[in-house]
Amino acid sequence: MTSPPPALHWLNIAARLHPDRLAIVAGDVELSYAQLHSLVAQRAKHLAAMDIRSGSRVAIIAENSVGWLLAAHAILMTGATLVPLHHLATAEDLRTQLSIVPVDLIIRDASANIPSELGASELTLEHLNDAASSCIAGPSGDALPSIGETSTADSDDTLVVLFTSGTTGTPRAVPLSAANIHASAMASAERLGLENDDRWLCCLPLCHMGGLATMLRSLIYATTLELAEHTDMGTIATLVTTRPITRLSLVPTQVHRLLTAHSTPLTTSLRAVLVGGGPVDAHDLRAARKIGLPLLPTYGMSEAASQITTLPLDAPLDMLESSGSPLPGTELRITLDDGSTAAPGQPGAIKVRGPTLTRGYLNKNADALYDNEGWMRTGDVGHLDERGFLYIHHRASERIVSGGENIDPTEVERALRAHPHVTDLAVFALDHPEWGQQLCCALVLSSLPASQKDDQLATLAEFSDTKLLQSLNEHCRTRLAPFKIPRRWFLTDAIPRTPSQKVRRHRLAELATRVGQ
Ligand code: ATP
Ligand code: MG
Repeated sequence: MTSPPPALHWLNIAARLHPDRLAIVAGDVELSYAQLHSLVAQRAKHLAAMDIRSGSRVAIIAENSVGWLLAAHAILMTGATLVPLHHLATAEDLRTQLSIVPVDLIIRDASANIPSELGASELTLEHLNDAASSCIAGPSGDALPSIGETSTADSDDTLVVLFTSGTTGTPRAVPLSAANIHASAMASAERLGLENDDRWLCCLPLCHMGGLATMLRSLIYATTLELAEHTDMGTIATLVTTRPITRLSLVPTQVHRLLTAHSTPLTTSLRAVLVGGGPVDAHDLRAARKIGLPLLPTYGMSEAASQITTLPLDAPLDMLESSGSPLPGTELRITLDDGSTAAPGQPGAIKVRGPTLTRGYLNKNADALYDNEGWMRTGDVGHLDERGFLYIHHRASERIVSGGENIDPTEVERALRAHPHVTDLAVFALDHPEWGQQLCCALVLSSLPASQKDDQLATLAEFSDTKLLQSLNEHCRTRLAPFKIPRRWFLTDAIPRTPSQKVRRHRLAELATRVGQ
C-alpha cells in the first residue's frame, strides 16, 4: 500500500476520529472535520485533474480567508508543495520569489495584481470553489482509510516553502518537511499543553510562519482554527472576549496596541498568547499580566518552523526580558568569534540544532546556514543565563558601531519605549565620517493623532522641539551609557515595517539621508 501524503494522513485521522469537531470557524462559517475533509477532497480532485501531484509546487497569493485554507489543504492533499506568497508583494517581489522557487500553478484572489509573465498557470480561489462544487470527490477523498494506514508524519518531502520576512534583504526560501512541521507541533504541545477544546485564533498572515503554524498545528492536533476576518485590535479584543478562544499568536506591535486600548482586566478563555517575531516590551508583559492575558514571549524563525524558545507563564518578573528556554528536542548554543562556547551571561552568535530545522535555503547565493558542526546559524546575537534562558540582543547585521563602541539598537529602543510621549520608535544608524556610524532615532509621538498613512510612504523630519529633546536626553541619561544616546532625532508618523511588522532600519536610514538634502 502506498503511503498517503502527510497532510492527507493528518486530515484523514482528524476526520475519522473527530468528524463532528469544529475544524475551521470564520465569522458565521463553521466547518467540522468531516465537512473540511469533503470540501478539501473536491478541491484536491480538481487540482489532480490539472496534473498537480507529489513533486508539483503550487503558490497561493491571496489574503487570509476560508478559501485560502481550503486551497492550502487541497494542495497538501495532492502531495504537492505549498508555496504561500504575500498578497501585498510587489510585481518585482513576486518575480524574484518565483525565480527562486518556480511553481506549476498560482492560486490567487481575483483582485490580486499579478504580473502576466510569471510563466505559471493561474487559477482564482473563486474558480477553484466553483469547480470543486461541481466535482464529486472520488474514493481517494471520501473513503476514509483505516487509522492503521502507514504514517508519513516523518516524511522528508517538502511540505511547504516559506519566504522569510525580508527584514535584512531579499527574502530567503525555506523548505520545511512534514517531519519539521510535525516535530514543531509536538514540541509546542509538550510545552504549552493541549486540550480537545483548544481553539486557536489566527490573525497573522497565513503566508508567514506565525499564521501558517496555526493552520498546520490545528490540523495535526485535530483542534479548531478560528480565522479573524479583520485583524485590527478592536476586532481581536472582541473575538477573544466573546468566543471560546484558547490560543492566540501575535507580534509585539499588536500586543502593544491591544494593551494601549485595554487597561482593565479582560475576561477570556485564553490559555496561551504566543508573542514573537521581535522583542516583547517588558512593560507590555507586566501590563498583560495585570489584565489577565497569558502572554508567552517566544523566539522563533521561519527556518525553525516557528518556535525555538518560549518563556513560561510563571517566569519571575526579573526574567521578563528573556525569550525563555528551548522547546523539547531543540538545543541552543551561543558561540564566540573563535567558535568556542560562550559562558552564561556572555553574548555571542545564537545557534540552534533540532528536528524542526529546515535542511537549507533554496536561494542559490544564500550564505551557508549550518556551521561545520551541524549547528544552524540564526544570524542573531544573544546570551544564555545560568538557567539556560535565552536573551536576544539584536541581529548580528543590525549591530551599530559608533566611535568604536558596540551598540545594540534594541537595548536603546527598550529604554526609550518607556518615555511617556513616545508611541512608537526605531533606532538606526547613518554613516558618519568621524565615528563610522551615528546613532539615530525615529519617533512617533503620542501628542500627534495616530496616522493611517501607509508606512511605505513615511517621511522623516529632523526634530527641533528643545523641551522634548531635553526630556528624551534626560530619559536616556538615567538608563543608558552616554554612547548609547541617539545623536540625531527624527519625527515620523509611521515607522516603516515589513508585512511581518519588523522595523525596516535600512529604509529609515535611506529616508534620513534625504532629510536636509
Ligand atoms: P529575513 O531573514 O528575510 O531578513 P526575518 O529574519 O525577519 O527576515 P523571520 O523568519 O520572519 O524573518 O523572523 C525571524 C527573526 O525574527 C529572528 O531571526 C529574529 O531576528 C527575530 N525574532 C524572532 N523572535 C524574536 C524575539 N522574541 N526577540 C527578538 N527578535 C526576534
Ligand atoms: Mg531571518
